[in-house]
Amino acid sequence: MDLSYSPDEEAFRHEVREWLRGHLPADIRAKVVGYQGLSKEDYVRWHKVLAAQGWSVPHWPTEWGGTGWNITQRYIYDEEFGLAGAPLLPPFGPNMCAAVLHRFGTPAQKQRFLPRIREGDDFWVQGYSEPGAGSDLAALKTRADRKGDHYVVTGQKIWTTLGHYGDWIFCLVRTDFAAEKRQEGISFLLMDMKTPGITVRPLILMDGGHEVNEVFFDEVKVPVENLVFEEHKGWTVAKYLLGHERMGSGAVGAAKREAAALRALAARELKNGKPLLEDPRFRDRLSRAEIELQALEITSMRFLDQMRRTGQPPGADVSMLKIRATEVQQMVTELMMQAVGPLAAPFKGVEGGEVDAFASRLAPRYCNYRKASIYAGSNEIQRNIIAKMTLGLPA
Ligand SMILES: Cc1cc2nc3c(=O)[nH]c(=O)nc-3n(C[C@H](O)[C@H](O)[C@H](O)COP(=O)(O)OP(=O)(O)OC[C@H]3O[C@@H](n4cnc5c(N)ncnc54)[C@H](O)[C@@H]3O)c2cc1C
Repeated sequence: MDLSYSPDEEAFRHEVREWLRGHLPADIRAKVVGYQGLSKEDYVRWHKVLAAQGWSVPHWPTEWGGTGWNITQRYIYDEEFGLAGAPLLPPFGPNMCAAVLHRFGTPAQKQRFLPRIREGDDFWVQGYSEPGAGSDLAALKTRADRKGDHYVVTGQKIWTTLGHYGDWIFCLVRTDFAAEKRQEGISFLLMDMKTPGITVRPLILMDGGHEVNEVFFDEVKVPVENLVFEEHKGWTVAKYLLGHERMGSGAVGAAKREAAALRALAARELKNGKPLLEDPRFRDRLSRAEIELQALEITSMRFLDQMRRTGQPPGADVSMLKIRATEVQQMVTELMMQAVGPLAAPFKGVEGGEVDAFASRLAPRYCNYRKASIYAGSNEIQRNIIAKMTLGLPA
């Protein structure tokens, strides 16, 4: 196994780092490192900066605007983004919907949607989960009835991330209620969110932020040409897409940046005592988090090396990365809270104490990151996948 980077790869890292230094808008970076949400305008602006450089969709086939980078270069690109405090583009269009269109789309669908995704003209969101159909996704009930040249869609999706920014949504819908196996009656539809009958309602999370939504469909007319792959065969598409979701690899760079910020925070002189870093119990917890982070990085590089050598995507054991990455993220948010103590209270003007705008965002951040072990397939489900696919245990 070779875990080192070649001189060419180091030169590539330098190129990405320098480019980010010159092109990442300061206000967007400030929001990322200060744990503030990005507006749709922020995402679109950043997408267009990347598109102008030809870097908005590096992983796509080159004939559609991909860069032709190898897997290591793509990993370095993601890691440098995390380290620099650059947002990775929301994955729903460039990664998920695009992966599906590349694999299953008709030539007309590719021509219609892919260039607009590449250029950041359409903001896509993901409509999979429903009340009662999350981990057990095949239980979904949103129905699409074929009426001539269109479907009529009625039902509800939930937890739709950035649904309020969405121009388009890709959805799993039920087209056959009589199918013997639940998975056999599902289809994959693309819907313009401006279509009459679609309503987006915010779900405010316990951190007070608006990130996820409910989306309701009331007799929404969707042209048949927006069906991807065959009718009733949407489960094949869904499974393909979930594999891509688990591959998300930008976490290591961001976690390294945050762990460094945490160490700096803990090293601060306190008014009423020694820096927290001198407390052996805190130092012990911090060191454990840093060791887990190193282990995560080495595990990521092991997958990278395997993919480099075999040219194949990783197996089900890539679920390990999702579990570990989210655990490390959650550990760091906990320690950040501990590091600032009462200043983490999410309101301004702590009596007798300095008002630290960064510290006051740590409690919401801590609450927000409880989500990480749930979305993109909960960590329990990832463990089931490893047990079944890698260890051969019944799940
Ligand atoms: C912040 C956030 C953003 C999201 N964004 C999107 C989005 O954009 N689009 C979208 O479609 N969905 C989205 N989701 C939904 C997400 O995919 C689901 O929340 C997730 O699949 C879990 O489903 P559930 O919430 O219905 O929980 P449930 O499936 O009801 O699970 C509840 C608990 O039971 C455990 N559990 C369930 N089944 C098993 C089992 N077989 N073995 C062991 N444990 C089990 C789970 O791990 C979990 O802890 C998002 C979720 C969150 C939190």
